[in-house]
Amino acid sequence: MKKIIVAIDGLSSCGKSTMAKDLAKHVGYIYVDTGAMYRAVALFAIKNGWMTDDYIDEVELKRHIRNIKINFQTNDEGTQDTYLNGENVEKEIRSLEVGNGASRISTIGFVREELVRQQQAMGVEKGIVMDGRDIGTVVFPNAELKIFLTSSPKIRAQRRYDELIAKGEKVNFEEVLANIRERDERDSNRKESPLRKAEDAIEIDNSHLNIEEQNELLRTLFREKAF
Ligand code: C5P
Repeated sequence: MKKIIVAIDGLSSCGKSTMAKDLAKHVGYIYVDTGAMYRAVALFAIKNGWMTDDYIDEVELKRHIRNIKINFQTNDEGTQDTYLNGENVEKEIRSLEVGNGASRISTIGFVREELVRQQQAMGVEKGIVMDGRDIGTVVFPNAELKIFLTSSPKIRAQRRYDELIAKGEKVNFEEVLANIRERDERDSNRKESPLRKAEDAIEIDNSHLNIEEQNELLRTLFREKAF
């Protein structure tokens, strides 16, 4: 088996991380959730008072961008936690507020430049599954396997709603759906690296696939490229 790079892109909450994590575990690859990295930068900005509902202090953020160190560690349950400058921020970065902040902060060119630099460094030895919005187009344009995942906004909102409720967050469905539509709009239309399907990416609409079917499909595509 040769070591390859697997790039998985798609809109918010369409199940990218579920399929990416399953494949990484199955084949012993490193998994990198790049959305968590944008969320960590947003949290950093919020905590420092550089981001409010309608303002981002880009001057301060730029001055400190190189001091933001993000890494991942496997916890006792075998899942991955995100660390921001040595602090476990996994729970905090998953809120709707931070998700929305991530979507705003990810439109800034110097933020993308820094995170893309860190992501490319993580992939130099290959053997990596990375998910996000620009992995197959910008981070690893030469990735051996590229997936572009889609599903309808309502199905994605229901999945995200179930996830947040299970975590004990107080949200309503309409709020989650509106949040997804807003992020779709921003991710697809921003100037810096908008979400696009790479020409050589394989498109999968998982609206009517269950998790096992989706995982199996990815494992099959992986075998075709890595063996
Ligand atoms: O995937 P997740 O919803 O956690 O990502 C949070 C936000 O980070 C997204 O809404 C998107 O705007 C941004 N993002 C990005 N590029 C990536 C990954 C995430 O712009 N590679």
